[in-house]
Amino acid sequence: MDYTWVMDERDFYTETPETKRATYICPKCRQSAEFQIRWVRRTKKKHIPPGARDSDRAKFTKAGDYLARVDDMLTCPNPRCRGRFEIPDFQTVVLL
Ligand SMILES: [Zn+2]
Repeated sequence: MDYTWVMDERDFYTETPETKRATYICPKCRQSAEFQIRWVRRTKKKHIPPGARDSDRAKFTKAGDYLARVDDMLTCPNPRCRGRFEIPDFQTVVLL
């Protein structure tokens, strides 16, 4: 039997959803608004999951906790606009 299954990095972490407030200006109507941005907090598990290989073990040792942004697109809350735009912030990962 050929085991090609590779452990997903997600198996190393416990995921907790989080929201962060941020203010952005809509590029369409130029109105600034506060948004609830969804993030997920990945906390490293105490023990490596069973079935881990040596390469997984090395990755697990190096892995650290981080926050990853879930949302990419926002909808302008202005009822006359309702424009969709991309979050103008390139930081999608925050190491903890
Ligand atoms: Zn707008």
